[in-house]
Amino acid sequence: MTLFEKIIAREIPADIVHEDETCIAFRDISPQAPTHILVVPKKVIPRVGDAEIEDKETLGHLLLTAGKIAQDEGIAESGFRVAINHGAHGGETVPHLHLHVLGGRPLQWPPG
Ligand code: 5GP
Repeated sequence: MTLFEKIIAREIPADIVHEDETCIAFRDISPQAPTHILVVPKKVIPRVGDAEIEDKETLGHLLLTAGKIAQDEGIAESGFRVAINHGAHGGETVPHLHLHVLGGRPLQWPPG
């Protein structure tokens, strides 16, 4: 079971801001910006490069949810970032696909 599956199963507590039949979204335990939320599919896709064509609808749903969360959090107007880390060089630490929604301050580019 991945760490995020344990959050989905309520075995590990998290500050959940959204849940539907396809995904869950909760605040990152180590926020890198005033708003830092993870959007996670309930289906375990390890990382974005492992997604299959059958995951197309799920991937679209995750992006739409990220945009809706940014609206709900009040960071859509000022601007925000959606980031996905794949593999060691990408900075991935949890092998269960997740979108980072970051905002509430100006973000640097490139991210480092
Ligand atoms: P990655 O580095 O894989 O792109 O992102 C994993 C993220 O999960 C990190 O930003 C990390 O802070 C967050 N994280 C790790 N463990 C937990 C946890 O137990 N609860 C929550 N809410 N976030 C976590």
